[in-house]
Amino acid sequence: MTNPGNAVGNNKIAVVTGASSGIGAATARALARDGYSVVLGARRTDRVETLAEEIGGRAMYLDVTDAASVERFVATLDTVHVLVNNAGGAKGLAPVSEANLEDWRWMWETNVVGTLRITKALLPKLEASGDGLIVTITSTAALEVYDNGAGYTSAKHAQGVLHRTLRLELIGKPIRLTEICPGMVETEFSLVRFNGDEAKADAVYKGLQPMIADDIAELVAFTASRPPHVNLDQIVVRPRDQATSRRNIKTG
Ligand code: NAP
Repeated sequence: MTNPGNAVGNNKIAVVTGASSGIGAATARALARDGYSVVLGARRTDRVETLAEEIGGRAMYLDVTDAASVERFVATLDTVHVLVNNAGGAKGLAPVSEANLEDWRWMWETNVVGTLRITKALLPKLEASGDGLIVTITSTAALEVYDNGAGYTSAKHAQGVLHRTLRLELIGKPIRLTEICPGMVETEFSLVRFNGDEAKADAVYKGLQPMIADDIAELVAFTASRPPHVNLDQIVVRPRDQATSRRNIKTG
């Protein structure tokens, strides 16, 4: 296994949070294919270690909701060229009147505060690279609301606002910022949302063709391949079968 903790030669370092599954894992693969030395962070270290072995990257335990974990993770890195804020997800699908506060806390801690924690910690290293890039995977839920989704849509809106504010604040610094807002992607997302209930998770993707993790990973790789003076601000991407969060080929 190579150790890309420090940039060597033309190697650029890319950090992917939540690289143990879905969009994060596909993104780690795509960036490694494009020549990046990828540092993969997630809580399920067995998974990131296996993937790191496959792509010649480096795996490390990372819990974005835990300040000490983020500190330890960041301390192993020197310069960082690309940060992909991907760790996140949804828990539950309940009306506000029945909101589970623990679910809400999980979503806000992971998507919002987690993104803030790792981004803040890596800003000096991204700036020091002379050509940094922050890609944040928010969601179409950062732009729209839907019934029973307020815990997730509010967290994704807040994550988007954090990212877009940083875009304003970093003007003049050598850091680009891209927000990618995907619609439906078939990953473990729904399994997590429905607490491991496979039937419920499968039903989400039945009767339409969702995107796959590689579809989003390709966009991250394309974004990273743009020259330093080109900033893709925001990319909204959905399956053809889905027009909005509330309207798809099944709802008519
Ligand atoms: P996924 O397959 O469930 O992957 C989620 C990833 O986040 C996992 O690798 C998980 O790793 C990581 N994660 C969760 N909590 C974490 C924590 N506290 N610290 C570090 N890593 C953590 O779902 P996905 O669809 O690929 O989701 C990736 C991102 O895309 C999320 O931000 C999600 O909100 C967003 N998104 C998904 C869709 C969709 O339809 N799938 C659409 C729009 C946006 P560990 O559990 O191993 O820590």
